[in-house]
Amino acid sequence: MHILTKEEMKKIDKLTSEEYGIGSEILMEQAGISIYNEIIKNFKKNTHFLFVLGTGNNGGDGLAAARLLYNEGYKNLKIIIIGNNQSNLFKKQLEIIKKFKFDNFIKYDKNFENHVSTADCIIDGLIGIGLKDDLKEETQEVINIINSKKRGIVISIDIPSGIDANTGKISKNAIKADKTITFGSYKLGHIFFPGREYSGKIIVAPLSFPKDLFSLSHRELVTSDMVKKLLPKRPKFSQKYDFGNVLILAGSSEFPGASVLSAIGAQKIGAGLVKLITPSSLSSSVLEHEPGIIYKSLNKNKFSLRDIDIISKDIKKASVIVIGPGLGRSNETMQFVRNVVEYSTSPIVVDADALYAVDALALRKNIVLTPHVGEMQRIVRTDEIDIRQNYDYTEYFAKNKKATIVFKDVTTTITNGEKTYFNITGNTALSKGGSGDLLTGIIAGLIAQGLNVMEASIIASYLLGRTAEIVSAEKTEYYTTPLDIAKNLYKALLEV
Ligand code: ADP
Ligand code: ADP
Ligand code: MG
Repeated sequence: MHILTKEEMKKIDKLTSEEYGIGSEILMEQAGISIYNEIIKNFKKNTHFLFVLGTGNNGGDGLAAARLLYNEGYKNLKIIIIGNNQSNLFKKQLEIIKKFKFDNFIKYDKNFENHVSTADCIIDGLIGIGLKDDLKEETQEVINIINSKKRGIVISIDIPSGIDANTGKISKNAIKADKTITFGSYKLGHIFFPGREYSGKIIVAPLSFPKDLFSLSHRELVTSDMVKKLLPKRPKFSQKYDFGNVLILAGSSEFPGASVLSAIGAQKIGAGLVKLITPSSLSSSVLEHEPGIIYKSLNKNKFSLRDIDIISKDIKKASVIVIGPGLGRSNETMQFVRNVVEYSTSPIVVDADALYAVDALALRKNIVLTPHVGEMQRIVRTDEIDIRQNYDYTEYFAKNKKATIVFKDVTTTITNGEKTYFNITGNTALSKGGSGDLLTGIIAGLIAQGLNVMEASIIASYLLGRTAEIVSAEKTEYYTTPLDIAKNLYKALLEV
């Protein structure tokens, strides 16, 4: 599923009409039908509806849906129109609904609160992706009343009014919908917070848009289908060396646990061999969890420059390296990180403390950086942009650095600057120390089995999040820990 900007959506609209001959009136009628179909599935004919519509195409879609309902015997229907500049398609829809003898248009006055609080279902067609500048005051007021006085279900057309379709940001105020029916494909505002939360359940109505047109967007949502297709096969005629060799360089006397989760992640996703080298001893905890992991300690507090000599053979043998979790950030350790990256030609997953060396690293496409919000903000070294809502900056950064980036957040951005994938699985069970460490191991375990860094990052992010959802449905988001998630990874695997 492609994820579109408003400009891309407008372009697809235009091409569908001009190049394919499916005009905007047809598309609007289809939008109306899809809203109508969604409504009749859930609401009886005696339902009290309030349509709150703007005068653009979003409002036009609403008029079409209202007329279809009215025609089918839904008679408790009120429509309020906010604003003046009627678009041509809106005008046309208004003429049509009047031909059906619909006349229950209400005015915006002090009774509006009353209409809102007595409606079983409110349809929000005020503003769609055509939101420009800050919300006008009257519109803010209308939205305020709907959010505070509603008692029924709120359904937004295309995107909740007030949400910017490109960023998910709220302009002054926005409708809090229970459900959003969008057209063609997701918009970015549906998957970034707060838009993602304000949208409620999202339904995509395909309409007649030619599927090929969506590829003009380079951004996609990670779906279970995608994961199913990419997951590496496990041919019967094989042995452990066919499933790759993961080397994990992690931990320090100060942070011994992180490395264990990485190693377990790599093994549980199917890597042939997992070797964990830590500076300090882990009091055998890794072996208690997974005796199959090969474990070596250098008997010191932290990695330093010369350790590269001791582990050079391991680096050469590795099909993929994880470096970072729990390393600490001393100068010597940072030099060690730099040397490992220079010495190796294999794919490398650079996480956590190793990200602090990023400026000095010779990056390449098969190096994947996995920063969380704080780490990302630090790497890009700018406070001016809110990095969480500027996926295009993350894309620019990946392109510029010629690396792959997994920017971990509630919505995770996976990009090499050319293609971008967003993952939205997961919940607060992951907002705990250690879940990122587990992720690095899963990514590496998948690279070891032959996937490229983008593919591996896509699958790993999806599976981590999905397992968190499955496990916390049984055990709550409070209780579920990264180790629980590691041990239950099979549940998400069985599902896809
Ligand atoms: P389009 O007609 O381009 O498809 P929409 O119907 O999604 O666009 O949005 C346009 C409508 O939204 C118009 O009625 C316009 O007046 C209204 N609108 C756009 N920006 C604002 C704003 N900041 N405040 C209030 N109304 C707005
Ligand atoms: P650590 O370094 O402690 O192991 P990170 O902060 O590096 O953890 O990584 C946390 C992981 O959990 C990331 O993959 C992030 O996307 C995910 N995550 C955290 N909180 C949430 C949330 N509320 N919803 C979805 N994913 C989350
Ligand atoms: Mg981390």
